[in-house]
Amino acid sequence: MNRGQKKLKIGIPRTLFSSYHLTYWRQMITLSGMEAILSEESSKETAERGGRRLPHEFCIPIKVFIGHILNLLDKGVDQILLPRMITKGKANFFCPKLIGLPEIVRFTTCLGTERMFSPEIVCDGLGLRVIKLPDLDPAMSRRMKTAARQANEDCKGVLTKCRTQRLTLPEATGLFKIDRSGERLNIGLLGYAYSIYDPFISKKILEKLYKLGCAVTTWEMLEPGLIERNLAGLKRPLFWNFGRMLLGAGLSFIDDSGIDGLIYATAFGCGPDSVATKF
Ligand code: SF4
Repeated sequence: MNRGQKKLKIGIPRTLFSSYHLTYWRQMITLSGMEAILSEESSKETAERGGRRLPHEFCIPIKVFIGHILNLLDKGVDQILLPRMITKGKANFFCPKLIGLPEIVRFTTCLGTERMFSPEIVCDGLGLRVIKLPDLDPAMSRRMKTAARQANEDCKGVLTKCRTQRLTLPEATGLFKIDRSGERLNIGLLGYAYSIYDPFISKKILEKLYKLGCAVTTWEMLEPGLIERNLAGLKRPLFWNFGRMLLGAGLSFIDDSGIDGLIYATAFGCGPDSVATKF
């Protein structure tokens, strides 16, 4: 970018994929020399605006997501981050709604592809890998590859902090602060990051549990090896990427005598959860 040239403003919807990897995306965009603009926190209005653009059957996280896209358009961003989430491996798929995010946005908001910033990625709750960058000039492409490496390191650092300090993702990234000294009950809290950490969708479940004096354990506080070992014991694998993390964590919570009980917060109409919750 030439000196004096205006920075490209990339909007990051503060929900869905970025609930897992906000650190990564924010770092990758800013270190590449662009400006990262976050959408506002979800509210009833966000859900209602998004919901008006979608058929009734869509789950609430997608309705909220579309509300975030509209909010970013209000903010006048140049492009919106809409990664294309690719499936790699035989038994590791994203929910179809996540795979089709760019299309869902295109047909609900009429956003042109030229305003979508859509790298192809593979990821789970833990790691994220960019497979293909959008078409960029060679200098920008080089900057972005370097930025992606640094962003990956920072993202790993956040997850290490979650495990070593027993913090949830929003606490580890400084997005949520509350007195969490309570130890009355230890609750294993399960749910997609974009549901349980979204104050509107979850009705502030984390805050409520802390205020009741509970300690809360979530998937990101567990060693990945433990999650995978629990999944390896299943007769039939669960195919959905983020759902696998939850199931592996849930099985671990059930075996853990230090956990008094589980809460599984699920969105009405969620296809993958209709299978996962049965386990
Ligand atoms: S996994 Fe469930 S809640 Fe998440 S986008 Fe898919 S259907 Fe919606």
